[in-house]
Amino acid sequence: MAKQILVTGGTGYIGSHTVVELQEKGFDVVIVDNLSNSKIEVLDNIEKITGIRPAFEKFDLSERELTDAFFQKYPNIDAIIHFAAFKAVGESVQKPLEYYRNNMGSLMNLLECMNKYKVPHMVFSSSCTVYGQPDVLPVTEETPRKEAESPYGNTKAICEDIMRDYCASNESVNCIALRYFNPIGAHPSALIGELPVGVPNNLVPFITQTAAGLREELSIFGDDYDTEDGTAIRDYINVVDLAKAHVVAIDRMLSGKSKANYEYFNVGTGSGYSVMQLVKAFIEVNKVELNYKIVDRRAGDIEKIWADTTYGNNELGWKAEKTLEETLASAWAWEKNVRGLK
Ligand code: UDP
Repeated sequence: MAKQILVTGGTGYIGSHTVVELQEKGFDVVIVDNLSNSKIEVLDNIEKITGIRPAFEKFDLSERELTDAFFQKYPNIDAIIHFAAFKAVGESVQKPLEYYRNNMGSLMNLLECMNKYKVPHMVFSSSCTVYGQPDVLPVTEETPRKEAESPYGNTKAICEDIMRDYCASNESVNCIALRYFNPIGAHPSALIGELPVGVPNNLVPFITQTAAGLREELSIFGDDYDTEDGTAIRDYINVVDLAKAHVVAIDRMLSGKSKANYEYFNVGTGSGYSVMQLVKAFIEVNKVELNYKIVDRRAGDIEKIWADTTYGNNELGWKAEKTLEETLASAWAWEKNVRGLK
C-alpha cells in the first residue's frame, strides 16, 4: 500500500510543490491547511498537474483538540512534512506572541500526536536564517547558529531545539530539519507558484509583480555591502528542487537510513548571486523591462550567505539541478499565468 504523508501547509508555496512531487512518486497525500495564507483553488491545480486530488482538511494545527481529532480520523499516516507556519519577518516583530504561539504550538501539538498515534517521522521547514550573518562562507551544517534577527527567525531556531530535545527523549520519533536558503520560481506547468497576499516582501515576487505592471518600481535594498557590486548575496534555490529534497528526506527516514533520530541539512544550490545579478538575469532571460532604483539597506538584512551543500548532497543523494535562468523563467511564466498576460 502507498505510504500516506500528512503535508501541513500543503496549499502554500513550498507545500504545494512538495505535494506534487510526493504524488508523482506514488505517495498518498493528506493536506492540512488553515488557508490563512493560501487558496483552496490550489487543490484544483495540483489535481491538474498530477491527476490526483489530495485529501484536504482545513483547521489550525495550533489547536490541540482539532489536531488530535485529525489523527483519529486518519489513523494510517506514515510521516509528516510540517510547513504550516507564519513566515513574515516584519510582521513577527509587530506580533511576536502570535508567531511564538503559532509556530511552536503547532510543532509541539504534532510531536505529541506523533508519540500518541505512532507516527514516527517528520520533516520540518527550517531556514538558513538560523545562521544569521556567518563569519565564514559558505555555511556547512557545522557552522554555529547565531542569535536570531527577528521573532520569526527565533521560532525556527527554537523549533529546531524542541525537535532535538524531544528526539533525545524519545527514540521512536525521528525528525529531519531542512534549512532552506531562498526558494524561488514555480512549477514548470505554471499552475502553482508563489502568491503573496498584499505587497510582496520577497525579492522575486516583487520583481515579477513589477514586470507585470502591478508595482511601479523595485527597490533594491542597499548597494554599499561588501560584495562585488555592493548588493546583498543569497543562495536562490528552485522550489521544485527544494520540494524534491523533502521527498528524499522522507525516503531516508522510511527506509531507515537516518544516522540519528534528529538530523538537519542545508538545502541550497551552493552558489550565491547578488540582488543586482538576479535582477539583470531576470530581465535578460525573460526579455522584459523592469524599473528599479537603489534605496537604503533594509533593517535586519544580512550581507551575504550561501550554502555548502556537500554534506546534504552526499548524505541525501540530492542535488539542486535547475539553473538560475530556468528558475527565473518559471517565476515569470507563473506570474503571467496568474495575471492572464501573454
Ligand atoms: N530585496 C530587495 N528588494 C525587495 C525585496 C528584497 O532588494 O523588494 C533584497 C533583500 O534585501 C535581500 C534579497 O533581496 O538582500 C533577498 O530578500 P528576500 O526578502 O527575498 O529574502 P531574505 O534572504 O531576506 O529572507
